[in-house]
Amino acid sequence: MKKKIAIIGAGIAGLTLGNFLQKKSNYEFIIYEKGETLNLDEGFGIQLAINSISILNQIGFKEFNKSEIFNPKTLVFFSKQDKVCDLDLTQFNTQAEKYTTLKRSSLIKFLKDKLFNNIFRFNKMIELIEYKENKIQLKFTDGGTDEVDYLIVSDGVFSTTKTIIENKKTKINFRGAFAARTTISKNNFKTLNEENISLIMCPNAHLVLYPINEEEYNFIAILRNKANTSDDKNRELLKNVLEQNNLNILFEKKISFWPIYSSNKPTISKYKNIFYLGDAFYTFPPTMAQGASQSIESADELFKILEKDSDNKQDIYFANRLERVKIISRRSNFNFFVFHLCNSFFVIARNFILRKLIYNNKFIDTFLRRVFRK
Ligand SMILES: Cc1cc2nc3c(=O)[nH]c(=O)nc-3n(C[C@H](O)[C@H](O)[C@H](O)COP(=O)(O)OP(=O)(O)OC[C@H]3O[C@@H](n4cnc5c(N)ncnc54)[C@H](O)[C@@H]3O)c2cc1C
Repeated sequence: MKKKIAIIGAGIAGLTLGNFLQKKSNYEFIIYEKGETLNLDEGFGIQLAINSISILNQIGFKEFNKSEIFNPKTLVFFSKQDKVCDLDLTQFNTQAEKYTTLKRSSLIKFLKDKLFNNIFRFNKMIELIEYKENKIQLKFTDGGTDEVDYLIVSDGVFSTTKTIIENKKTKINFRGAFAARTTISKNNFKTLNEENISLIMCPNAHLVLYPINEEEYNFIAILRNKANTSDDKNRELLKNVLEQNNLNILFEKKISFWPIYSSNKPTISKYKNIFYLGDAFYTFPPTMAQGASQSIESADELFKILEKDSDNKQDIYFANRLERVKIISRRSNFNFFVFHLCNSFFVIARNFILRKLIYNNKFIDTFLRRVFRK
């Protein structure tokens, strides 16, 4: 009889795993999503480095409509308005795998469209799980039930399902910062080089602008603010930073705000056939733009392990993931610190060192290639 899997959460991680299971395995699976439907209107951008593009290519990403994606060639660092240096992103590319930017909703649509409609169950949240003779019994808040061999939890940073399973509150850290996001038409913003990602480092903040398709740029700002304040207060802080950088035009757009959280430590379940995936396993600060790529990587790793005939699937998965989390979280935390330096002496030193390191092969191999190429 086919083994059965329940995936909780239809985000990037859950949908990627679903695609692998449907395309290449003998498992029966259902994706349970708390939302009424998948949000395909959301216009914000996402960066995918080639570590995730190589995985997505295995499920048809090569055929993705080229007008809906962009392949930036360079990451340009600015210190306020002064250019510091360029990072050549094409050095990590191959013919088939290129650093890619796109709308998150385009990626979700791509992943969803490849799955059969009948594997989705919407408006579903787990209320209770029971573990009996290696089977997991699920009870949902609407009274529905299911019994599965494996439970994969990919319900994002706050993972309420994890809290129910492990019977303790999931610990996540507020990073004393918030993100502000909007998109802007290229026609309204002709000063930018269309081929590039621009990263502007300022005291207590950094701003990132990049094309997400043929017509639009994505704008994201990460601003330090120890208190988790209201959108109005965050709007004021953002306005100051935009004015200082002559980017006032962005303030005319509709801007959304998010507090930034990251995980305390990676999660392993007390039950051997329950796995955490994507942000539910570990949430990174967004200063390496690797959250989505890591969700995709974790789905790929878990799929390969599920295919193996092994009794310690969970230990193997956890050990692999832990190693990747250590590599990426160290770099994300380092960037979080250096991008936001305030003291002018340290800023000058940072810019000087960055200009040297960006052309140093050893640094590029150790700091970036280990992330972009496994
Ligand atoms: C400001 C910001 C900018 C970012 N920029 C980038 C970037 O440029 N590049 C990048 O790679 N990453 C980026 N990330 C990170 C990236 O968005 C996340 O890491 C990624 O979306 C995580 O995917 P996921 O599938 O684990 O979780 P999610 O995408 O959060 O999906 C979770 C899903 O589970 C559902 N769900 C929630 N609770 C339940 C429940 N109890 N039961 C059932 N379903 C549930 C949700 O509705 C959702 O559909 C950014 C993050 C932030 C905050």
